[in-house]
Amino acid sequence: MNTATQSELAQEEPPTACGEGILPHRPAWIEIDLARLRHNYQVINQDKPKPLKILSVVKDEAYGHGALHVARAALAAGASFLGLVTLEEAMRLRDHGLRTRMLLFGERQEEELPWCVEHDLTVCVNDRRMVEKLGRIAARAGKRAPVHLKINTGMNRYGVRWSEALSLAQAVGANKALELEGVMSHFSMSDEMDKTFALQQLARFNEVLSAMAARGIAVKYRHLCNSGGFLDLPQAHFDMVRIGMLQHGVYPSKVCRRIAGIEPTMTVKARVAGIQHLDKDDVVGYGMKYRAPSARRIAIIPVGYGDGYPRLRNQGCVLIGGRRAPVVGGVAMDAFMVDTTDLPEVRLQEEVVLMGRQGADEISAHEVAQWKNSVSYDVLAGWRARLPRIHVNGNQDP
Ligand SMILES: *Cc1c(COP(=O)(O)O)cnc(C)c1O
Repeated sequence: MNTATQSELAQEEPPTACGEGILPHRPAWIEIDLARLRHNYQVINQDKPKPLKILSVVKDEAYGHGALHVARAALAAGASFLGLVTLEEAMRLRDHGLRTRMLLFGERQEEELPWCVEHDLTVCVNDRRMVEKLGRIAARAGKRAPVHLKINTGMNRYGVRWSEALSLAQAVGANKALELEGVMSHFSMSDEMDKTFALQQLARFNEVLSAMAARGIAVKYRHLCNSGGFLDLPQAHFDMVRIGMLQHGVYPSKVCRRIAGIEPTMTVKARVAGIQHLDKDDVVGYGMKYRAPSARRIAIIPVGYGDGYPRLRNQGCVLIGGRRAPVVGGVAMDAFMVDTTDLPEVRLQEEVVLMGRQGADEISAHEVAQWKNSVSYDVLAGWRARLPRIHVNGNQDP
């Protein structure tokens, strides 16, 4: 299974002992199955209308999956754009030779704009000041910079309020150094049963688009949908959808539409680092939060909240030999303990799954999110860089 990791790591990392795989990696890691990623894209491509374009959202290291690997797979599967948030994220991909169109979400600092223009990073514009500054910088560079107009249709995060969007679109149109290439907005809630607000946002978006069309302002890419919108709101697809979560095989919510064949690409693994035999009334871990009701056999998992594992107490579980072993005591920064008394004899170094599938069972990102009192997005993006990412089945790369 662990094929192609050596050469891929070497491509991605500077030549250090860790990067070249000289150091043995710690007995805890995150496996990303690139074959599943490619398969998810096949499934998405078959599901979507043919002309609908895809922007692959690879911000925050593609939600912890590795932006470079995910971007390459998405582009090979036909994605037209990459979506990022910080200038560093985008430049890192440029440094690795990715020449694709990249759209930066969020707000830009003035000092970032010359970099964006020079490296062809497309920005979203939210106000006139930005239009003027970007226009000046593009003109000085002798370029006509494409921009996407970001409309606030009710999320009230970034963007120009829908009622003022037309005049901003006209301001962009009047600027010779800018090209109004895209118009976009973002849903506050697209993946829950109740679509009332999403439909209201869609109506506001459509209102702006008609006002623009009435004045002969044409745009190439109109886009509103994230993964939830892609799945559940086909009437909001327009020209392009922005897919983040779904490419990783995790649904944005429990109630959105499912597509057969989508599979999670991430598995969080570790090896049993120790075994302790407890007598009745022995306690476990910091704060003595667990007291053994009888003789117990526990296994030590070398992962903790310093790796992004939720700081649980006597809650949650791992998979060992395809069966669930409950967490006992509190999770520490670097380790936690699980009760394996009822499992067949657990061996030192045995592979344990903290999130993902093992045998017939699976601990999903949604399940971990419940333990963490959070959402699956936070769970995926919350695994820290301290856990090495091992990309497997990447052998289709040239
Ligand atoms: C993060 C983000 C997305 C991706 O959302 P998913 O639910 O992960 O598909 C799309 N659009 C914008 C503007 C985003 O910030």
